[in-house]
Amino acid sequence: GKCVAILTSGGDSQGMNAALRALVRMAIFHRARVFLIYEGYHGLVTGGDCIRETSWYDVSHIMGKGGTVIGTARCKEFRERDGRRKAALNLVKRGITKLVVIGGDGSLTGANIFREEWSGLLDELCTLGDIDEQEQAVCSHLNIVGLVGSIDNDMCGTDMTLGADSALHRILEAVDAITSTASSHQRSFVLEVMGRHCGYLALVSALACMADWCLIPESPPTDGWEEKMCCQLSQSRKAGRRMNLIIVAEGAVDRHSKPITSQYVKGVIEKELGHDTRITVLGHVQRGGATSAYDRVIGCRVGAEAAIAVLEADSTTEPVLVGLQGNKVVRSPLMECVRKTQAVSSAMKAGDFKNALAMRAGSFVR
Ligand code: ATP
Repeated sequence: GKCVAILTSGGDSQGMNAALRALVRMAIFHRARVFLIYEGYHGLVTGGDCIRETSWYDVSHIMGKGGTVIGTARCKEFRERDGRRKAALNLVKRGITKLVVIGGDGSLTGANIFREEWSGLLDELCTLGDIDEQEQAVCSHLNIVGLVGSIDNDMCGTDMTLGADSALHRILEAVDAITSTASSHQRSFVLEVMGRHCGYLALVSALACMADWCLIPESPPTDGWEEKMCCQLSQSRKAGRRMNLIIVAEGAVDRHSKPITSQYVKGVIEKELGHDTRITVLGHVQRGGATSAYDRVIGCRVGAEAAIAVLEADSTTEPVLVGLQGNKVVRSPLMECVRKTQAVSSAMKAGDFKNALAMRAGSFVR
């Protein structure tokens, strides 16, 4: 029968477990053998007990759990060809030729490199005597399917990454908690949310929380923004609001690529307006807690489709990314999605924000 392996890699996110459960069960339903790889690429390179065959009931009761029950890791070894050769050996020895990776753009880039090198790696293993010609023939092709798990919503090829919606829920809960204390004391709050390169969480939570001001990496404010912000804040106080909320993405920068930190924003407000101002950095709280209904449902949908895609794939099939586009689950060429995502990063680094936003439009707010 066909053998499928699944791993989660990069930063954990809610919805990874829902996807994992759907993948395992849909693949078993189609009579495949399914292996779980623990600790991401580290487990793939290490083999042994890190790669275990799984059953239908092994993935019970995991749907709503945050994070990933099979663990994730950053793995230096997999970045080197030697590491990837060990990984290939671990798959061939188990007859696995189908791999589903749930992770961010780095993890999916790694998966694609692995597939491109696959036949070369098998030649090397054969020459070294680690595998025989029959094993090489049986496993001559590796099929890859990618799913995007990331709270940042920073990947082309899907409108929503697994975990972004749950992270928004955490941010909203935090804002609700802050609002009562902030209003009681008539304070200003600077809330820092995750997003080193992508302002999705900051922008969308600002919309949902009626924030007064928002700073994101994709749209550096023009010089003199501090004055405009303070003007906005004092207007809203005059209109009767008892607090102010400013949401800052951790990667926010100004027109000169200088980071805009929460500390800087606080300093400006205190100096210009004299407001009692506090900073809250949400950090890993955003990755924690229960998975939202939306992340559970999209996890199920993309997970099931990924299982079908990887089982259907043959020696001629290119790797695909299974994502959500216009509320439909679709398969896109994995490499194109990775390339586009990298092009967005390059455009941002070069200060070409308009282009970066246009390229990411699919996954951004309009
Ligand atoms: P996140 O969005 O949470 O950062 P990510 O998948 O982009 O997730 P990375 O740390 O970039 O996270 O990658 C995770 C792992 O994937 C790395 O530790 C490494 O093992 C593998 N990987 C990433 N890039 C490559 C690459 N170019 N070649 C081989 N392996 C890679």
